[in-house]
Amino acid sequence: MFGFSDKGNLNLITQALAAVGCKIDVIPDPTTVHFHLPDDLSVQVHREYSDFVAEIVHKFPHEKEGILNFYGECWKIFNSLNSLELKSLEEPIYLFGQFFKKPIECLTLAYYLPQNAGDIARKFIKDPQLLSFIDAECFIVSTVNALQTPMINASMVLCDRHFGGINYPVGGVGEIAKSLAKGLVKKGSEILYKANVTNIIVNNGKAVGVKLSDGRKFYARTIISNATRWDTFGKLLEKKNLPKEEENFQKAYVKAPSFLSIHVGIKAEILPPDTDCHHFVLEDDWKNLENSYGSIFLSIPTVLDSSLAPEGRHILHIFTTSSIEDWEGLSRKDYEAKKELVADKIITRLEKKLFPGLKSAIVFKEVGTPKTHRRYLARDSGTYGPMPRNTPKGLLGMPFNTTGIDGLYCVGDSCFPGQGVIAVAFSGVMCAHRVGADLGLERKSPVLDAALLRLLGWLRTLA
Ligand SMILES: Cc1cc2nc3c(=O)[nH]c(=O)nc-3n(C[C@H](O)[C@H](O)[C@H](O)COP(=O)(O)OP(=O)(O)OC[C@H]3O[C@@H](n4cnc5c(N)ncnc54)[C@H](O)[C@@H]3O)c2cc1C
Repeated sequence: MFGFSDKGNLNLITQALAAVGCKIDVIPDPTTVHFHLPDDLSVQVHREYSDFVAEIVHKFPHEKEGILNFYGECWKIFNSLNSLELKSLEEPIYLFGQFFKKPIECLTLAYYLPQNAGDIARKFIKDPQLLSFIDAECFIVSTVNALQTPMINASMVLCDRHFGGINYPVGGVGEIAKSLAKGLVKKGSEILYKANVTNIIVNNGKAVGVKLSDGRKFYARTIISNATRWDTFGKLLEKKNLPKEEENFQKAYVKAPSFLSIHVGIKAEILPPDTDCHHFVLEDDWKNLENSYGSIFLSIPTVLDSSLAPEGRHILHIFTTSSIEDWEGLSRKDYEAKKELVADKIITRLEKKLFPGLKSAIVFKEVGTPKTHRRYLARDSGTYGPMPRNTPKGLLGMPFNTTGIDGLYCVGDSCFPGQGVIAVAFSGVMCAHRVGADLGLERKSPVLDAALLRLLGWLRTLA
C-alpha cells in the first residue's frame, strides 16, 4: 500500500488514521513489484531507489543518462508535492498561501500539470524496450500507457514507493477501513452499513439529501458522493440535472475496463523461498499490454504477513483487465463455465511463466468478474475509473470536488488526481477542506472562490 509511511506529506493514510486517533502496524515491502516482461526482461523495483536504478541501468547501460533524467524529473514533481501542505486546489486562500511560501514548487507543479509521462520519457530515452518498460510502469497505476498517463500521477507513485515505501498493513488491507470506521465512531460519527443510496434529492437546484433503497431519506447541508461520476450523475441524479461540466468530463474521459479477479489458496511449498509479494506478467508481446487479459497482476500478501492464511498455505490474488461486455448476456450456467475457463487459462500462463506445478497446488479458488465489481462496489460497468478518451493534457481536464450542483461534491477516483489509494486519499483531503470552507469552518473568500472556479472550469475546457 502507498501512503502508509511515517514521513513526508504524501503519507495520507497514516495521516487519516492519526486524525481519528488510530495507527496500524505495517510490514515494509522490500520490492514494490517484480516485472516479468517480453524478451525475458525481468526487473525488480527495489524499495531503495539506488538499488532500483542500479538494476535498470544494468539492463539498459546505454540509457543510463536517460534513466537518471526521466526518474529525476519524477523526483522534481514528487519533492514539490511532498513539500506542500496538501489541501483543496479549489480554495484560493490556501492556494495563494502555498504559492507565497513555496513559489518554485508551485510553479513546478503548474508546469507539469498538463504533461504526460510518455512525452517526458521520450525527451530522454530512445530505446524502444525501455520506453515499453515505462509504459508498463504507468499501466500498473493507470491501466493506460505512459503517453496517456499524467506526469503528476506517475511521479507520485514512481517516487513514493522509494520515499515512503510500500507498506503492508498487518492483518490485511481491510484493516484500514475497519480502523478508520472505529476511529470515526469514537470521534462521534455515525456510519450506516448496508445503506444503498438510490437518489440524491435536489431541491431548487441544490442537493439537500439522499434517499436509500429501503425508502429512508436523510437531509444535510452538504452531500458528498464517493460513487463514480458516472454513477453519481447517471444514476443517483436525474439525467436532466447533468451539468455542462459533467458532459465535458464524459467527453474527455471514458470508463476504464474492469478486472477479472482470481483468489486462490495454494500449498506453500510451490513458491520458491525468495518469491516477491507483487508481480506483473506480460509474456510475449508488448502490444498486449493494454489488451483485455493481456497482462497479469499478482499479489501474494502471505509472503509479507503469513498470519493471513493457515500454516503451510499462501494466498494469491491474480487479476487482469476485463470488460463487462465480455460477461453480459450469459445464462448462469454459461457464466460459471466461462469463469472457470478464463481463470484456468490465466492460471496456466502463470504456471508456465512463474510457478511450475501451480495448478495442482490449488486448494481453494474463487473467481470474480467485472459484474462482481459492479455488484459489490456499485461502480458502473465495474470500471476501474476514468481513462482519457484521447491523449490528455496531463491532469488539466480532471474535475476536482465541487460540481455544477450547489451543495453536491464528488470524491474518489473519478476526481483529480485519479485512481489509486494515495490519489483517492488526496481527493478526500481536498474535498474535506473545500467543504470545510463552504461550511464556514475554514477561511473563505466568495469573490476569489468564484473567480478561481471560473478559471479552473475554463482551463478544463482546454484539456
Ligand atoms: C483489483 C484491483 C487492485 C488494485 N490495487 C491497488 C494497489 O495495489 N494500490 C493502489 O493504490 N490502488 C489499487 N487499486 C485501485 C484502488 O483500489 C482504487 O483506485 C480505489 O479503491 C478507489 O477508491 P474510491 O473511494 O474512489 O472508490 P471505491 O473503492 O470503489 O469506493 C466507493 C465506495 O462507495 C460505495 N458506494 C458506491 N455507490 C454507492 C451507493 N449508491 N450507495 C452507498 N454506497 C455506495 C461502494 O460500495 C464503495 O465502498 C486497485 C484496484 C483494483 C480493482
